[in-house]
Amino acid sequence: MKKRVLITGGAGFIGSHLCARLLRENNDVLCVDNFYTGSRSNVAELAHQSAFELLRHDVSFPLYVEVDEIYNLACPASPVHYQRDPVQTTKTSVMGAINMLGLAKRLRIPVLQASTSEVYGDPDVHPQPEAYRGRVSITGPRACYDEGKRCAETLFFDYQRQHRLPIRVARIFNTYGPHMHPQDGRVVSNFIIQALTGEPITLYGDGSQTRSFCYVDDLVEGLVRLMAMDQGLEAPVNLGNPVEITIAELAHRIIDLCGSGSAIVYRPLPQDDPTQRCPDIGRAQNLLHWTPKVALDDGLKRTIAYFEALLAGPGGTVSPLLRAAS
Ligand code: NAD
Ligand code: UDP
Ligand code: UDP
Repeated sequence: MKKRVLITGGAGFIGSHLCARLLRENNDVLCVDNFYTGSRSNVAELAHQSAFELLRHDVSFPLYVEVDEIYNLACPASPVHYQRDPVQTTKTSVMGAINMLGLAKRLRIPVLQASTSEVYGDPDVHPQPEAYRGRVSITGPRACYDEGKRCAETLFFDYQRQHRLPIRVARIFNTYGPHMHPQDGRVVSNFIIQALTGEPITLYGDGSQTRSFCYVDDLVEGLVRLMAMDQGLEAPVNLGNPVEITIAELAHRIIDLCGSGSAIVYRPLPQDDPTQRCPDIGRAQNLLHWTPKVALDDGLKRTIAYFEALLAGPGGTVSPLLRAAS
């Protein structure tokens, strides 16, 4: 059945793929974004469709629209971007959650929150199941994001209990793919751009910290399945790829796949950088019958192709990105 779907943060990396997916399934999509980290170019290919509408708006302010369901993705996701204006990051998470919950309550519609593995902080339980309560710094540089997202989860479950609102909470683990912001400082985009431009690969710490990388198409599939659920929603659901890799190994993989001659340079590990992260996806497997399908090398190849085209610029001319890097 055709729905009117609101996607906040729809011009960002994950949001733009979700917009495309829901349009392909014949829905009307209202994409709301303040373009803090997202851009019109991420949704440019969708703009000609009459079922697609783009609205510039900051979710920390109220929004009155008429829709059938809400995906709340608005929030900068990379540590560099969310730490640039930490007060705004907390406002976006907390005020944005209140406004989207208020909207969902008025319309009595489902609302899905894009939460994060960062709610587990630097975990001492590994891999992380949903029942793990986390080890988060309350006052450190990542707290604006981690605590903002934790408070948003609290609000979601309070609206569920207090107002019987049909909520869904996805705890998203590191996701990568085309439309990542080339300068947002996340590891996959940094390493690929460095490898393609022959710049040194910046490895923070000794590279022994781990992450688990999920290709964006798999993640979007998980979000859509979670939205479609009407049971098992009394707890959050981890969504991520359980294949864990050290950051040093990721650097070597990307160098090899790019056929790059880049050297590796070591930089200090940022404060509170988690030493390990890997999702326990048992709950998503049971509840959603979902498991990521795209292998890391395949997803990296598709992401490398995207950044190659971006670096080449329109018509194969050298892009400003490449000029800046060389
Ligand atoms: P992104 O930065 O590419 O996208 C976020 C989008 O939200 C951008 O388009 C940005 O302009 C918009 N935005 C930010 N503040 C806003 C505001 N106040 N009002 C309206 N729009 C606003 O990040 P992403 O990777 O696509 O992440 C999307 C969501 O998924 C975020 O909520 C993030 O916390 C969550 N998440 C992502 C990852 C990941 O690995 N990518 C992991 C965990 C959680
Ligand atoms: N809100 C919104 N759109 C709506 C309905 C509510 O943005 O369609 C906002 C509203 O500004 C309020 C917030 O959502 O601040 C929470 O709404 P709720 O009804 O839960 O709380 P209340 O209005 O009673 O504070
Ligand atoms: N990292 C790195 N070099 C970079 C960017 C990131 O070594 O140029 C490391 C970072 O310290 C962290 C991991 O890669 O251990 C993932 O970082 P990212 O910012 O992508 O996301 P996080 O999982 O920390 O939120």
